[in-house]
Amino acid sequence: MKRICVLPGDGIGPEVVECAVSIVKGATDDLEFVPADIGQAAYEKVGSYLPAETLQLMRSCDSSLFGAITSVEGPEYDPPVLRFRKELDLYANLRPVRTLVQVPNRAPIDVVIVRENSEGMYTQNEVYDDGGVTTLRRVTKKGSERIVDFAIQYALANGRRGITCVHKANVLRASDGLFVNIFREQMRTRGKGLQASEQLVDSAAMKLLTDPSAFDVIVTLNLYGDILSDVAAGVAGGLGFAPSGNIGPKHSVFEPAHGSAPDIAGKGVANPTAAVLAGAMMLNHIGLPESAWRIERAVSDFYSSGHLTTDMGGRHGSKSYTEHILRNLAAQPHR
Ligand code: ATP
Repeated sequence: MKRICVLPGDGIGPEVVECAVSIVKGATDDLEFVPADIGQAAYEKVGSYLPAETLQLMRSCDSSLFGAITSVEGPEYDPPVLRFRKELDLYANLRPVRTLVQVPNRAPIDVVIVRENSEGMYTQNEVYDDGGVTTLRRVTKKGSERIVDFAIQYALANGRRGITCVHKANVLRASDGLFVNIFREQMRTRGKGLQASEQLVDSAAMKLLTDPSAFDVIVTLNLYGDILSDVAAGVAGGLGFAPSGNIGPKHSVFEPAHGSAPDIAGKGVANPTAAVLAGAMMLNHIGLPESAWRIERAVSDFYSSGHLTTDMGGRHGSKSYTEHILRNLAAQPHR
């Protein structure tokens, strides 16, 4: 039996993870769930936002399902998400965004953002001097090669039609230029039948909003991917719709792309869809595609039958949403 480390975290994290776990349990009996502390709860218990025991458990489980963490200000704070991404070598951040409910004045979207997850602007290498701060932004050949390779393998395995490399090589000529050159080379040698295109990050942000069908898979650097995936989520209806997977050679952590949303925590109104779809991504990743497909279908049936979550102006909070999805799952024939 496969083991899943469950990391609820802060804010709406515990609410949406609880929904996701019960829905994953509704789709498969093949998993054991092991809870672990992260974020504020961990700090209050053991004085660390990412305790060594939690990290060890994440390493020993087959995958992890994580909620969200509220960032703490101050120079001493070491963000747990950046730390577990680094410690577990989760170099690829996979963020699919698909329209489930028609949003007024928004075109349908079906985009997968493959974001480099280990370097770029997220190395936290900031040097202070009298005049200010210099942030060191790292783009390596190895990091670029493996993320482009990941995007190609993903696109081929999932029947996608093409990959757009999003960058800012007109300004960051050396670093983003390296990334684009690796993209060109790998698409030429390994992109078998996939369309290759390139777009500057600023115009890509606008186009995601005005003509999302122009994109299929996007491969991009860390900060651009972070920002573009929120733009894409906005097109699909908001952050409640965007799941995310942090994937490495050995380990993986799945989470909603949103944060801890302290403004709505404890009100029962958080949309669990992103966390639930993250659970489905996790099932796919650990070799349970049938169960993943059943969850995806139960979620799309919920929206296509006219139900709406509170973030979309509807009446379904987290609890009622979860009950509906569980009912949809129970009513489904197996494929
Ligand atoms: P953090 O500091 O943890 O990143 P945040 O509130 O700054 O928290 P998000 O958590 O990403 O950032 O939320 C941004 C906005 O989107 C919030 O106003 C929140 O209410 C809304 N939001 C985020 N996730 C959801 C969700 N699952 N359901 C409904 N609304 C959400």
